[in-house]
Amino acid sequence: MIALDRAQCLALDAADPLRALTDEFDLPDGVIYLDGNSLGVLPRGTAARLQDVIAREWGTDLIGSWNTAGWVDLPQRVGDKIARLIGAGPGQVVAADSTSLNLYKVLTVALDIVESTAYRDAEQPQDAPRRVILSERSNFPTDLYIAQSIAAQRDCELRLVDNPADIPAILASDEGAELAVLMLTEVNYRTGERHDLAALTAAAHAAGALTVWDLAHSAGAVPVDLVGAEADFAIGCGYKYLNGGPGAPAFVWVHPRYADRFRQPLSGWLGHADPFAFDTAYEPAEGISRYVCGTPPILSLSALECGVDTLLAAEPFGGMPALRAKSLELTDLFIALVDALPAELGVTVVTPREHARRGSQVSLTLAAPRHEAGYAVVQALIARGVIGDFRAGDPRDLEGHPHILRFGFTPLYLSRTQVFDAVAHLREVLDTDEWRDERFAARGAVT
Ligand SMILES: *Cc1c(COP(=O)(O)O)cnc(C)c1O
Repeated sequence: MIALDRAQCLALDAADPLRALTDEFDLPDGVIYLDGNSLGVLPRGTAARLQDVIAREWGTDLIGSWNTAGWVDLPQRVGDKIARLIGAGPGQVVAADSTSLNLYKVLTVALDIVESTAYRDAEQPQDAPRRVILSERSNFPTDLYIAQSIAAQRDCELRLVDNPADIPAILASDEGAELAVLMLTEVNYRTGERHDLAALTAAAHAAGALTVWDLAHSAGAVPVDLVGAEADFAIGCGYKYLNGGPGAPAFVWVHPRYADRFRQPLSGWLGHADPFAFDTAYEPAEGISRYVCGTPPILSLSALECGVDTLLAAEPFGGMPALRAKSLELTDLFIALVDALPAELGVTVVTPREHARRGSQVSLTLAAPRHEAGYAVVQALIARGVIGDFRAGDPRDLEGHPHILRFGFTPLYLSRTQVFDAVAHLREVLDTDEWRDERFAARGAVT
């Protein structure tokens, strides 16, 4: 049952055990933050933790902290915590580098595996080399750019699907025999649409291909079961739902069946089996530790640990499944309230309504004559303290890729009442034409 009136929202919030988790954060008063999918909010513990790392670990204990404060193991320690959120085991994840760099590592390794004699011997001998990386056109650009570089370096082809619904049929068709890697982002950054990670992984494997999953909009947002799905590689972001802070390190997971057997291409000294032997020859560390490259950014990793801890704080309340249930309740409520807006305001929900096909965000478009107003509408909402963001459409195909007003829902700190109020603000901004104010037209470098 969806509460459409504010009093019901207040009552449901008062009875919500997850409400206690709001205390994990310091949010400015009067802000309804619907952008945790882009930059998670500041956890209450982060400033004190960083102060301690700076003043005591660095300031007082100096270089000894690499040993005494466990700095050198921080990528693994934070990785183990992230693993609990994405259905991976201990020792299977490291927090390191950026999502883009981690994608470069795992996509290269996936292609190396597919080209390896052992992998090819397991297939029909007449199979031609698998040269295709399959992804979707609306994948996040950095993922496509990294794949383009790799494709150029090693004579592969990046093939893009326009409609993600076509992927299972492509995998099952003759094209399947050309595929090396299926590279997808589980939850689409524009539309909030969620793929069926387990089913597509199984379909890719049946076609003889490997899978690389980008969990940028999944980790901390939806329950993920990488081991259960038998996925091959995954990467994801630390600064979105993991609340790690701007530019937080990313993470990388490799299925244990591959982690030890292949070298990742960015073979830096801290991914070496014995960095302090200062050997001239590279010898990869065991397992996922080889996916660390250079010296870990201790301040950023410490902040990321605080962010991940805010999600682990939900474990006594039911963990990711409980957070998912609340996330769906919040997005259902937002969708129902938007649906109830007067038709002449022309607001349309782009995100799928089926729970299984939805991440933790809801994307809207505005119909003509307001279609171009999306950016200004978001700015007007921000001026009212309702923070979402805007993603421009594709000018060549605004029908298929319209301008998007994007709202992320983080169940750790959002209430139903805030969702209710956010839609009331949206209605007022449109009803009163407030967005037409010229101060809402100026574009910053980051939208
Ligand atoms: C946010 C996001 C990224 C960001 O990559 P960086 O290397 O951290 O800049 C990559 N891929 C997807 C799908 C994202 O949503």
